[in-house]
Amino acid sequence: CVINPGVHTLSNEMPQESVEGTVYGTGKRIEYAFAVGALYQETHIDGAAKKTITHRQLKDYVRRVTSGLARAGLRKGDVFCIYTPNCPEYIITYLAVISAGGSFTTVNPVYTSYELDTQLKNSQAKYILTIPSLVKNAQVAAGHSGNVKEIFVIGEAPNCRSFSELMNDPGDAYPTNLTFNPMEDVCAILYSSGTTGLPKGVMLTHYSVVANILQMQGNAIVRPPGSDRSMSVLPQFHTYGLHSVCMWLYTGQCMVILPRFEPELYLSCIQEYKVTFLPLVPPLVLFLANHPLTEKYDLSSVMAGSSGAAALSANLAEKVQEKIPNLLLRQGYGLTECSVAALVAGLEWKVGSVGTLLPNTEAKIIDLKTGQPLGVNQEGELCIRGPQIMKGYLNNPEATKNTIDNEGWLHTGDVGRYDEDQHFWLVDRVKELIKYKGFQVPPAELENVLLSHPAVTDTAVIGLPDQAAGEIPRAYVVPVPGSSVTVDDIEKFVSERVAPYKKLRGGVVFIDRIPKSQSGKILRRELKHHAMDELKAK
Ligand code: AMP
Repeated sequence: CVINPGVHTLSNEMPQESVEGTVYGTGKRIEYAFAVGALYQETHIDGAAKKTITHRQLKDYVRRVTSGLARAGLRKGDVFCIYTPNCPEYIITYLAVISAGGSFTTVNPVYTSYELDTQLKNSQAKYILTIPSLVKNAQVAAGHSGNVKEIFVIGEAPNCRSFSELMNDPGDAYPTNLTFNPMEDVCAILYSSGTTGLPKGVMLTHYSVVANILQMQGNAIVRPPGSDRSMSVLPQFHTYGLHSVCMWLYTGQCMVILPRFEPELYLSCIQEYKVTFLPLVPPLVLFLANHPLTEKYDLSSVMAGSSGAAALSANLAEKVQEKIPNLLLRQGYGLTECSVAALVAGLEWKVGSVGTLLPNTEAKIIDLKTGQPLGVNQEGELCIRGPQIMKGYLNNPEATKNTIDNEGWLHTGDVGRYDEDQHFWLVDRVKELIKYKGFQVPPAELENVLLSHPAVTDTAVIGLPDQAAGEIPRAYVVPVPGSSVTVDDIEKFVSERVAPYKKLRGGVVFIDRIPKSQSGKILRRELKHHAMDELKAK
């Protein structure tokens, strides 16, 4: 039941030469690493603005911004919040914050000030980086949180410091006497609801992130030989988008950064910049497989792509490979709680499987009721152990204890099996999480919003299957007796308070009571069965 390929030694994976004496896992500063030979090549192409940055410039900017942040008062352990769409400044800030000894937390740029406020309070962030159109949200949320000392803006906005001041910092306040413990010091606090409840701060140490980047180096898909240009369109606030970028820096690749997915821009950038690697999620695969626009562009530069974050059907995978034969498509699996990835398919792929274990990673499948390990082809909860596992949830020892057991196994809340060749397959999810186009929609978060409506006495949110999005959230609502509240009122109330992808696209259903266990736990499966029966009857 336990599989441990354990063939990689992390220290052997160091680049031949590294900039700034970057040393992994030894207590020295973890900065950023890439082969020295790549210094003069482009590292970022801002695909929308058509600007490029070389590795040398990146290094210079990171040094200046680190110094600027130290001058602004950022100290070891301080949390810095990034609330912007994808942009080159994202990675500059990431690297600068950790070089200055801080941790950063990332926020989806479509979040409302209400959602941002919750994260700022939970993470105790002291600084925010944002863009002019989001400054108002940032200021409102910062006002509520009470911890924020300064807001930086890419561009100009009243009462904010321009990020260009940091980029032009002379660099002389760069902290040189910091000590790091990579096994303990947290570089990223990314939010995930885990198996239950509200979003929680996933603490990723320098060690975990670096380990996971190194674990992927041997994979012929994630790092296809000869591939040198990757597409950064997946959101950098999510661990998949963010740590893909770090991996490309490590390997000295150039990346084309797009602030958001726009079909023409995406395809034209692949064509113009001869992109070789595509990180994918199922909705993007669907787009590539079906959209007529793809025929108008030359996608022959693409060598490989890896899909993750949500289930990719075998049919869809086959369809896109027929349409773009040069795209060698594979699937991977991971979760924020394990830095990025635990399983990635290599050259040998059983279509539909989520891959095989990364080096130095162990997995077991356990019985859902007894917790006992199961054997080949038996379905149960997938548990993962390896260096990429999070340190824990921020200020939440209870949730940490419920997720990482005392033997170090991360209980993923995903149900799957492995076959005789140790290829893994996911079949279900026992955790509450809903995934809309790969984005997390925690039911508890929507339930909290619904319960703040004066005409709602009780509620439960579940995910309904949806072909294009994977899942869409539906709310069951018990209205206050005698109230005249309507479905439209509830939908509007929610959509005014949450990011667009969390909207109740699966509808709102009024119900007399929410089914609950004796201990008061919502019986979501029961609601799901009702919903499925209703959908089948239609
Ligand atoms: P996140 O923390 O946002 O990355 O979400 C992690 C969750 O996404 C996992 O626990 C799975 O439920 C789901 N997930 C990730 N990769 C896959 C995949 N390849 N197939 C199906 N579900 C996936």
